[in-house]
Amino acid sequence: MITYNPDLKIFSSTKINDKTYFSGFSTSDLGDARNLNTFTDFFNQQNIPYKKLVILQQIHSTNIEFSENLKTEDKIEMIEDTDGVITKNAGVILTIRNADCVPLLFVDKASGIIGITHQGWRGSLKKMAAKMVSLITDAGAKKDKLIVVIGPAIGACCYDVNDDLYYNFLEEFDGYSNKVFMMKKGRWHLNLAHLNYLQLVESGVKKENIDFFPFCTKCDNKRFFSRRRSGTESFEEMFNFVMKLK
Ligand SMILES: [Zn+2]
Repeated sequence: MITYNPDLKIFSSTKINDKTYFSGFSTSDLGDARNLNTFTDFFNQQNIPYKKLVILQQIHSTNIEFSENLKTEDKIEMIEDTDGVITKNAGVILTIRNADCVPLLFVDKASGIIGITHQGWRGSLKKMAAKMVSLITDAGAKKDKLIVVIGPAIGACCYDVNDDLYYNFLEEFDGYSNKVFMMKKGRWHLNLAHLNYLQLVESGVKKENIDFFPFCTKCDNKRFFSRRRSGTESFEEMFNFVMKLK
């Protein structure tokens, strides 16, 4: 279940958060995550002890890296040209930023391995979620124990795509493209979050281990930033994170 914490001003999933794991999805109340201080202020003010904060320089790719080296003195690790990251280490906060794109958090509590990915239409079309399931299980996570939380993203209500893109998705998702598109006012609308949900299920993640976010970032202008609402020139972003505390 997704719940809201009014003190922290974040949403989180009861499937992940407990005494050992901490995760969340920021709201616009916490400010623009394109500003690095928005991240660091949040973790410092909440007295969350961490060894390293991992920030991705996202490029809408399907590149996934490992954050393993804790020897660096630097508390912030910037990873270039990547949209997903995995770690086995406690005290490492994995983050991604979004403003309509889908954030996915991955936790296997049995092995202690965690991951995070960012995917808009490009990453979803290239099956980023399935790639992460494959890599994180190769790294030792148990697929039948893997918890995945789908964060706030643009809803099908607001996400119209052009016909060329629609046909690209039809080719790639032969079996279930009809479940993720709807026609509205003569335009195809894509349900990105549901597309990622179906990819996760097809990859072997158990349905009961997937938590799902019920809001649309564009419709819900009180709580979320949205690139589609603000325009590509002036949009702000939320941050999404997951960590093993100890
Ligand atoms: Zn909407």
